[in-house]
Amino acid sequence: MRPPRVTGYEFVTVPPPHAPDSSPTLRWDALSARWCLLAAHRRDTPRDMTSRPDTLRDASHCPFCPGHEREADPATEERLDADGRWVARAVTNRFPMMASGVDRGAVLHNGVFRERAAVGAHEVIIETTAHDTDLSDLSADALAVVLDLHRARHRALAARPDAAAVLLFKNRGPRSGASLRHPHSQVLTCPVVPPVVRRRDAVAARHFRREGSSLVQWLADAELADGSRVIASDAHFVALCPWASARSHETWIVPRAPIGHFGATPDALLGPFAAMLQQTLRKVRRVSADADYNLLLRQPARARWEEPWAHWFMEIQVRRGGDAGFELSGGMSCTVFSPEESAALMRSADVL
Ligand SMILES: [Zn+2]
Repeated sequence: MRPPRVTGYEFVTVPPPHAPDSSPTLRWDALSARWCLLAAHRRDTPRDMTSRPDTLRDASHCPFCPGHEREADPATEERLDADGRWVARAVTNRFPMMASGVDRGAVLHNGVFRERAAVGAHEVIIETTAHDTDLSDLSADALAVVLDLHRARHRALAARPDAAAVLLFKNRGPRSGASLRHPHSQVLTCPVVPPVVRRRDAVAARHFRREGSSLVQWLADAELADGSRVIASDAHFVALCPWASARSHETWIVPRAPIGHFGATPDALLGPFAAMLQQTLRKVRRVSADADYNLLLRQPARARWEEPWAHWFMEIQVRRGGDAGFELSGGMSCTVFSPEESAALMRSADVL
């Protein structure tokens, strides 16, 4: 591949060569004992976002806008309005991180070079027909419809026998890793338990053996008792900036009582969760000057959903730039706002 051309202070990356027609695979990193995903075909993922505003493309190219449905894969599930038009829809990802088919769990060994097929399902949830908006701009009722679709696709994908973990996340803005501007999120299955999930599950299981409680609930209850990092709470959820935040303005929305996985969220909690998520996202955007963000569902591996300590929560990570040398060297984060400051700012943020 040719090196990037330098124009002024901007690097303009030469388009990569057309990706080889190869299926995603997982390669074993023997040094850190974890799987890494290789998905070369995703080089061809369509992009309308870069860090340079002058290169933004308009909605006429967007495969997620109404009228462009043929440019995306067929819907797996939709939510319709009274006139039969879709308001939110799930489609298979045209550039999936996981290959189609059935996982047989076979690991190829060639000395230190272990590899296995990355097989699973990967869907995109198109959250609204409006191209140039944010999830938090939706009404709480419209947001509840989106969350209901999230839950439905989570349940459908979790039924795959090869789903070791179900991931649900949203990338908003180029610094979050988003490639398309139209509001959307993603749900996918993974045939192995990702390293962050495995580590968190081990810590939560150890806490339960020692204390007999859900670690997530123990933390949320401690934050509620302290109060200085709580943004808002009601009978069902608490929104807070955690004591040890990885990034400035990190925010969690935690169910007050344990729910093992997102698919088990009862109907009665979708409305309250939508209201809390809408208000919290608006506050995060306000105090971060509308910075890019990731929305991440935190939940155990598929095999641990019935454990008494299993307890999902939603995490918002504000993204101002990529991880720098300090973070990459040690895997340790550095924040410049304390969570107490962030929570105080969000409590006083005047959002509708
Ligand atoms: Zn669009």
